[in-house]
Amino acid sequence: MAPNTPLLYAVIGNPIEHSRSPLIHRAFARQLGIDLSYEKIWAPIDGFEETVTAFIKRGGRGMNVTVPFKLQAFDLAGRHSDRAQRALAANTLVFPANPAEPIYADNTDGVGLVNDLAFHGVNISGGRVLILGAGGATRGVLAPLLQEAPRELVIANRNPERAYGLVEEFSDAAGDCLLSGCPLAEIEERRFDLIINATPASLSAQLPPLPDALIGSGTAAYDMAYGAGPTVFMEWAEERGARALDGLGMLVEQAAESFALWHDQRPDTAPVRDELRKEIREAAAERDGED
Ligand code: NDP
Repeated sequence: MAPNTPLLYAVIGNPIEHSRSPLIHRAFARQLGIDLSYEKIWAPIDGFEETVTAFIKRGGRGMNVTVPFKLQAFDLAGRHSDRAQRALAANTLVFPANPAEPIYADNTDGVGLVNDLAFHGVNISGGRVLILGAGGATRGVLAPLLQEAPRELVIANRNPERAYGLVEEFSDAAGDCLLSGCPLAEIEERRFDLIINATPASLSAQLPPLPDALIGSGTAAYDMAYGAGPTVFMEWAEERGARALDGLGMLVEQAAESFALWHDQRPDTAPVRDELRKEIREAAAERDGED
């Protein structure tokens, strides 16, 4: 590659148009004076590996991976971080300068969530945590959450078998935490300190069937989804007295972890959170104006 060519990175997914990763990574790079190019790459559902290979051939140094390719990204790599190994899914790939060396895979979603909760002063240690959903996002965040030593962690899922499967798989990471699963419609009616919505229900303005008794004074309700305003889950929780947070900060924090892995420098996430929030609100206002 020519000496002054910017370092080449990308996010890959299907769909990909909605991705805010380029905005985030470019903002980090500006902050730290790094010259990089960060693209959005759409890959056909059956063409993940070919698309990644073509990107590497163009000089790509690393990639973020989003739905539905996180499992394939894990499989494509020859070396994995412990947290990717634990999740069996990767959202970050590092491509070696020497193509004979293996691709390295990491999963920064879980640490992104934990760092965002810390940013907002939400304490996990010793608390009772409820996670709604047992899909890829829950799988990715379970080990980092358990590392924070909650007293109890319940996984509630529409298909309870998936929740029970995760409980079994992660039981060795639970330590003293009481880890259990249940059907989403049968969550025991008692107060939790932290409720994490790891379902995409909010994206279609759906609210899982949740008893009011889950919320008490001091409950934090965290929706991994985010938008221009509060999600239906956040509104439900706030109306019952909880502190509600969306997943925008998680997105920025997981990106910061990927960025640090690629560039050996840690960006300040606070201004980028503000920039992203502003961009999402402006984009929504523009859409509303067109309607
Ligand atoms: P998956 O498709 O892997 O899993 C979805 C889970 O949600 C499943 O357990 C599914 O239940 C459940 N579910 C789906 N729809 C509903 C519904 N209408 N009501 C109740 N439960 C439902 O998705 P992911 O785990 O990858 O992602 C989950 C959410 O987290 C998405 O909105 C994603 O955008 C968000 N996310 C946000 C991140 C961030 O940085 N902010 C990072 C990663 C994810 P079942 O098993 O019964 O089908």
